[in-house]
Amino acid sequence: MLKYIQLSSYARNELIDITPRVEELVKKSGVSSGVVYLCCLHTTAGITINEGADPDVRRDISRFFEQLVPVDAPFDHSEGNSDAHVKSSLVGVSETVLINGGRLLLGTWQAIYFCEFDGPRTRKVAVKIVADR
Ligand code: ZN
Repeated sequence: MLKYIQLSSYARNELIDITPRVEELVKKSGVSSGVVYLCCLHTTAGITINEGADPDVRRDISRFFEQLVPVDAPFDHSEGNSDAHVKSSLVGVSETVLINGGRLLLGTWQAIYFCEFDGPRTRKVAVKIVADR
């Protein structure tokens, strides 16, 4: 089962919690035990799993990446978004989450984040839900 999550970002660098959207797709799928694969279909964004309780954490991560890969570093790529390409590769464009009891098997403090590095834009995440046999 392949589904898509469409979302809009509002800042150039931003971590967006997509956990409720993924949970909703899992619930609708009726799969009680299996795996969900998340794939970011972009070269200037990514997906990561980290703390969802304190919003300071996602802001810290976003700010750290901005400092780690400055937008004005000497890049060759002429689009002006090389920092976003580098950040995308550092974070990665996919995550795998287990499904248990019809719910995402995440730690108490974990959330799934779409990582925007070249916003604001409209984005798409492919979601593949696979049931155990
Ligand atoms: Zn580019």
